[in-house]
Amino acid sequence: MSDKALASVSGAVRKSPEREGLRADPNLSVPISKDEATLQAQRNIDLLNLDDTIDTPRYEFMDALYKDVPPRAKLNLLKKAADRINAAALPRSACRSGCSHCCNISAVINQVDADAIGRAIGIKPKKLKSGRPGLSSRERWFGIPCTFLVKGRCSIYQDRPIACRMMFNMADSPYFCDTRIPPDESHVTMLNLKQLEEGYVKTFIDYDWGDIRDFFPPKNPVSDR
Ligand code: SF4
Repeated sequence: MSDKALASVSGAVRKSPEREGLRADPNLSVPISKDEATLQAQRNIDLLNLDDTIDTPRYEFMDALYKDVPPRAKLNLLKKAADRINAAALPRSACRSGCSHCCNISAVINQVDADAIGRAIGIKPKKLKSGRPGLSSRERWFGIPCTFLVKGRCSIYQDRPIACRMMFNMADSPYFCDTRIPPDESHVTMLNLKQLEEGYVKTFIDYDWGDIRDFFPPKNPVSDR
């Protein structure tokens, strides 16, 4: 559900952005090369697979997709399984509390997810005009902070959507997550949860999909960084 490039771990050898002339920015984490990012991610993915802690929640997520329960109950089951995936993957990823890089890229959610957030915060989500704009609105929201990002933190953390619970940069460093690095210079190896994501999209295919900012438009859509 992320529009960060899913970098292949066997990707081409490239010079680091620093060496390619990207200006040093004190707010960026220490620059690493694409090779370093690839190696870090490869090692962490191997360790995660050895851990054997992520398989059970993966099955729980798949199982929840096929449960014969109403959409709202299904979403709750999926969020619980996603949280267990999160608990297993987080220690092996670059994702840390206080890092909000991925809150500045598109987060695609569906109407059921939006309604759940709306109920939790007492704000009705906007009705989307057409079908599934989220699948084409990713570029529009790149670099624009999520409506719910406040001072670098998620203000709806307990109620955040599925998309925000299952996205992991598997390198040690979050360097390439920073949206100040142009997308074609980025090199993020995400944890491959494609099968679960596809199942999730198929399960809720009949509902409207959009970016979280489409459902809850930001009042002041500029970066808070
Ligand atoms: S809902 Fe929270 S975690 Fe998700 S993008 Fe928005 S601020 Fe970030």
